[in-house]
Amino acid sequence: MTDRYAVFGNPIAHSKSPAIHAAFARQTGEDLVYEAILAPLDGFATSIRHFIAEGGRGANVTVPFKEEAFRLATRLTERAQRAGAVNTLTFEGQEIVGDNTDGIGLVRDIRDNLGFALQGKHILLMGAGGAARGTISPLLSESPASLTVVNRTLQKAEALRAHFGEITACSYEALAGHAYDLVINATSSGLSDTLPPLPDHLFAEGALAYDMMYGRITPFMNFAREHGVMVADGLGMLVEQAAEAFWVWRGIRPQTAPVISMLRG
Ligand code: NDP
Repeated sequence: MTDRYAVFGNPIAHSKSPAIHAAFARQTGEDLVYEAILAPLDGFATSIRHFIAEGGRGANVTVPFKEEAFRLATRLTERAQRAGAVNTLTFEGQEIVGDNTDGIGLVRDIRDNLGFALQGKHILLMGAGGAARGTISPLLSESPASLTVVNRTLQKAEALRAHFGEITACSYEALAGHAYDLVINATSSGLSDTLPPLPDHLFAEGALAYDMMYGRITPFMNFAREHGVMVADGLGMLVEQAAEAFWVWRGIRPQTAPVISMLRG
């Protein structure tokens, strides 16, 4: 019988995950189907239980359900526990195993696909929401020289510092006079076409500006281009987090480069 997987979100219609997993399945010869399911805002757990009852083997979880998925899991991987959010569920008998592949997806895209080593670098992470939180431990495990989290609501960045320890938290005003080798935009400011208040001279020489958003040019990407630094969007991260989920479910690591090219094409 063909194994069933799905991504749950709200909204979900424009998700690229079904196309990504279909490409992985073709490439590896795995017998599976992967669909996009719109869960009602107040009915995520019910939708998941229904999917399990129908024989679903695993699921990805996207906005706004990652924290609810964290609570729904009966067992959590260490990286999901550290992230405080779940984007990958595996259904094993009575168990719902919660994992988080977003952070490793970001690191693999930056380090392996873009060839940008993180070791010894000064990193600025913009945002203190779910996406930012999930990437802190994977970034720290690459031994950067420093990791600074900047957020509009300073208390949220400070809560992350209290939780993770080895990072610095600051406000946008406090960025003046500092330069970074890697600036990651993990805010949703691109959705409202706004740019957080970034100072000039934010980028060190040879810096990379990475926006987790994909499918649109954001004001942050334009800001970085105007400052003459390399710019990357979050499409590679999306494909890498999917590849890690595929590995968790199927024990096979698909090639990501052809799938990233297919989506860009
Ligand atoms: P959350 O809603 O949890 O957090 C949003 C963050 O953005 C908060 O820190 C918020 O600050 C900040 N923010 C929002 N608007 C502005 C603004 N105008 N100026 C400055 N800061 C702002 O969202 P997520 O963390 O889940 O997602 C963030 C982004 O990452 C989204 O765009 C999402 O699409 C992307 N993403 C991409 C992935 C990929 O695979 N490529 C995977 C996961 C996420 P405050 O706390 O002050 O409200």
